[in-house]
Amino acid sequence: MSSPLPAGSIDLHAHSSVSDGTETPAELVRAASVAGLGTIALTDHDSTAGWAEAALEARAQGLALIPGMELSTRVERASVHLLGYLMDPEHPGLVAETARIRAGRRDRAESIVRRLAVDYDLSWDDVLEQTVPGGTVGRPHIADALVARGFVATRSIAFETILHWRGGYFQPHYAPDPLTGVRLVRAAGGVPVLAHPGTGGRGRVIGEAHLAELVDAGLFGLEIDHRENTRDGKERLHELARRFGLAVTGSSDYHGAGKPNRLGENTTSAEVTERILDLATGSAPILP
Ligand code: AMP
Ligand code: FE
Ligand code: FE
Ligand code: ZN
Repeated sequence: MSSPLPAGSIDLHAHSSVSDGTETPAELVRAASVAGLGTIALTDHDSTAGWAEAALEARAQGLALIPGMELSTRVERASVHLLGYLMDPEHPGLVAETARIRAGRRDRAESIVRRLAVDYDLSWDDVLEQTVPGGTVGRPHIADALVARGFVATRSIAFETILHWRGGYFQPHYAPDPLTGVRLVRAAGGVPVLAHPGTGGRGRVIGEAHLAELVDAGLFGLEIDHRENTRDGKERLHELARRFGLAVTGSSDYHGAGKPNRLGENTTSAEVTERILDLATGSAPILP
C-alpha cells in the first residue's frame, strides 16, 4: 500500500504559543513548510487548544499534521514528558487531567514568581504578558518575563541560572505518574511515546522495571533522536527499545525563538509514523 504521507521529512515534536513556543500554531505550520518538512506534529504541553488552527493552516500548506500533546508526568521531583498522538481531544479523563495539570502549573508559576519578587522587580502580570489566554504556563514564560525586565539576556540563560532546579527558586508542579499518563493517552485512543528519555542528570534513563510497566500499559515508543538525549543515554535507550519491542522516534522539540532547536534537526521514519496512524483511534491526522 502506498504511504498516506506526503514526501518530505517528519518531525513529531513541536510547540506553539499555546504552550511555550514563540509562534502561533499557524505560524509553526508555515515554518514547517518553509523548512521543507512533509509532516509535523503539534505537541503543546498539556493542551490541545492549538489543534484547530494548525489543521486549517496544514490544509492550506498541503502539509500533513499529526495533532498531539506533550503530557506532563512526574516521578518524585523529576519531570517525565510523555508525547501522545491522535487522542480524542474531548475524552473526559484527558480533559479533566490536563485541566488539573494546567491549573497546577499556574499555581506553581505564581508561587515561583512570589518567591522571585523578593529579590527581583517582577510581577505575575509581567509573566501573564508572555502567555496567550488559556495557554499552558511554565518556567519559559517566567524566563521571558525576566528577559523583558532586563534581568537576563535570553530565555536559555534564565534556565541555566535563576530558573535552574538548583537556582534557589525552583519548585515542581502537579503531574500524574507516567503509568497514569500512558493509560490516559491510550484510553483516549492516542499513541504514547516517551519524550527525550535519556537526558542525563536528574532525568536519568528510566529504570527497566518501570519501563516494563509502561510497555504493559501500551507505551508505543521512545523518542531517542533528540538533542537533549546524551550519547550514553541513546545507546541504552536503543538497547531498551530492542528488548521491549518499542518504536524509535526522532524530533526537534522546536520552540520557535525560545530554544535553539531547529525544525527537522531530528526526524522519524515514514514506517514508524504510519504505525502511529494505524494504531490511533482517538482522532484523525490531517493529510493533504
Ligand atoms: P517547566 O515545564 O515549566 O518546568 O519548564 C520546562 C520546559 O521549558 C521544558 O518543556 C523545556 O522544553 C522548556 N523550555 C523552553 N525553552 C527553553 C530553554 N530556552 N531552555 C530550557 N528549557 C526551555
Ligand atoms: Fe517545552
Ligand atoms: Fe519535553
Ligand atoms: Zn517539548
